[in-house]
Amino acid sequence: MAFTLTLRRFAFNETQARSLVLNSSYEPIKIVNWQKAILLWLTNKVEVLEFHATQKVRSAHDSFKLPSVLRLHRYIHKKHFQGIRFCRENVYLRDEYRCQYCGESFSYKKLTLDHVLPLSRSGAHSWGNVVAACSPCNNLKADKTPKEARMPLLNKPHKPKFLPIKVLDKNQHSILQEWGPYISGWG
Ligand SMILES: [Zn+2]
Repeated sequence: MAFTLTLRRFAFNETQARSLVLNSSYEPIKIVNWQKAILLWLTNKVEVLEFHATQKVRSAHDSFKLPSVLRLHRYIHKKHFQGIRFCRENVYLRDEYRCQYCGESFSYKKLTLDHVLPLSRSGAHSWGNVVAACSPCNNLKADKTPKEARMPLLNKPHKPKFLPIKVLDKNQHSILQEWGPYISGWG
């Protein structure tokens, strides 16, 4: 379907403007950026359960609040779910905010992304080759493989199918306050 949307943004914070998407069963399934949230809304795939209090966008004639919590009209079976977006935050969530070499827990700011097979050796920048690592472990491993560095991985990296809600719940910085009631009790 041809779809164009021309919007001018008010000053807002991209992180604060994200939306939580729930299955029709109310199970939280993923977090999307505001552009994706508007697309889902305007193409009538979702109902909006909550709006962001302060995050708004403006089109030529109008301004409107951005959705914060969306619920899909149609139930998505887990086997049809496309999985979650590859990005730093989701890698940390998958790895439960633990360095995959020493096993310690770290905050978002203290973690780094490590390429298991280094980029310098044609390692991919993808779910299957990227893990959370603390800076000391990342520096120690340098451009070696885990085997060469004698630093075995805690878990073999993979593309996760679902948002790990339990972990999300523990890392308050990555969830927005208004999502709380929709997240608690799941996972
Ligand atoms: Zn470490």
